[in-house]
Amino acid sequence: METRFDIVIAGGGLNGSTLAIALASAGFTVAMVDPAPGTADDSGDFDGRSYALSLASVRMLKALGVWGAVAGTAQPILDIKVSDGRAGEGPSPFVLEFSHHEIEEGPMGHMAEDRHLRPALAAALDGVTLFRGRKVVAQEAGDDGVAVTLDDGTGLSAALLVGCDGRHSATAERAGIRHTGWDYGQSALVAALSHEKPHDGIAHQFFMPEGPLAILPLTGNRSSIVWTERTENARRINGLDDEGYLALLRPRFGDFLGGIALAGKRHTYPLALSLATRFVAPRIALCGDAAHAVHPIAGQGLNAGLKDIAALAEVLGEARRRGEDIGRIDVLERYQRWRRFDATALAVVTDGFNRLFSNDNPLLRGLRDLGMGAVNAMPGLRRGFIREAAGLTGDVPKLLQGRPL
Ligand SMILES: Cc1cc2nc3c(=O)[nH]c(=O)nc-3n(C[C@H](O)[C@H](O)[C@H](O)COP(=O)(O)OP(=O)(O)OC[C@H]3O[C@@H](n4cnc5c(N)ncnc54)[C@H](O)[C@@H]3O)c2cc1C
Repeated sequence: METRFDIVIAGGGLNGSTLAIALASAGFTVAMVDPAPGTADDSGDFDGRSYALSLASVRMLKALGVWGAVAGTAQPILDIKVSDGRAGEGPSPFVLEFSHHEIEEGPMGHMAEDRHLRPALAAALDGVTLFRGRKVVAQEAGDDGVAVTLDDGTGLSAALLVGCDGRHSATAERAGIRHTGWDYGQSALVAALSHEKPHDGIAHQFFMPEGPLAILPLTGNRSSIVWTERTENARRINGLDDEGYLALLRPRFGDFLGGIALAGKRHTYPLALSLATRFVAPRIALCGDAAHAVHPIAGQGLNAGLKDIAALAEVLGEARRRGEDIGRIDVLERYQRWRRFDATALAVVTDGFNRLFSNDNPLLRGLRDLGMGAVNAMPGLRRGFIREAAGLTGDVPKLLQGRPL
């Protein structure tokens, strides 16, 4: 088997797989390593996980030939409604509404279920050499390339190693890249629900004192919830049986969609902020949660990772056209300049939103209700928020514009 590649990717999650597809489609030789088996079969049970993909992320998946396999099962997000709420009281009268009619491009995003997205990516990995069931355990960067060792002793070499190995990235640690951040003391309870009434493609965000409750539309009369609670409460709630869980959820959820029932397994994710102090080192780059893991309050974590990938793939493609060594630090710093400020801003904004909204301080509650009312009354500002959430602002890489590399 060929052991020299242009690029080795440590981590074959959603970001690692998308990066592998993008780089292989640009003509690079790519190896991807992940301990998980990974399969193109999407016949498995619904595990409840789903992602709000921005309009720009959907364009990128279309440009990479992945979206066709997901589109039929993805739910367009037509409108977003944001309000303050308390269990049993329903949403406050100050509702902030974002409608897709306010941007010409169409729905601001789609909800894609993990059980469809992951196999669609796996099916598009044709040109990639896969090392499944394996871990990267060592790396050594040198003048001519980086030597990568897997847990079965296999040795690979490449011009560049990209760490897509998640928020506890060992690639970063081995490269001496530190992370800053903190534990939120909150956990997200995630589940899919079925309900009696149609959701009409509307996503809801209720800001509860303990943390936000997002109700995100899936196909049919189903929605996905991301229900944030203090970690000790989340642990207690997750320990309840399904009926006990629903009994606590119902007063928070309200009855606007009629009766609700669980439509899949329940999951819990401890929430933490983690931001790499650098996104690159000689012959090393970090993408996705390995570079920045943020609070899911705005549903932007994966979208930000896909933006890293689009930017890195574009930088590497241009470097190769110029005849540059793609692993050199000055090439990689172009990627860092493109992404680091943006990713840090996302981390700061999501952190600030979580602090502002996850409390019951009457003064703050009054201020944020006024703020939501004010933003709602300003169509220009509202449109700006929608374009930001859709991924249409700033220096948008080609793939996120739906253009090939
Ligand atoms: C509750 C919740 C809701 C969310 N909702 C949204 C949303 O609506 N929209 C959105 O955009 N984002 C959302 N996110 C964020 C999104 O889920 C993450 O940003 C994204 O899944 C990160 O993907 P990743 O591939 O970077 O990392 P991971 O999913 O952590 O994947 C890392 C991979 O690396 C592999 N790995 C680890 N160590 C090694 C090693 N030594 N060698 C090789 N491989 C290794 C692992 O097996 C894994 O497959 C949400 C997050 C949470 C917690």
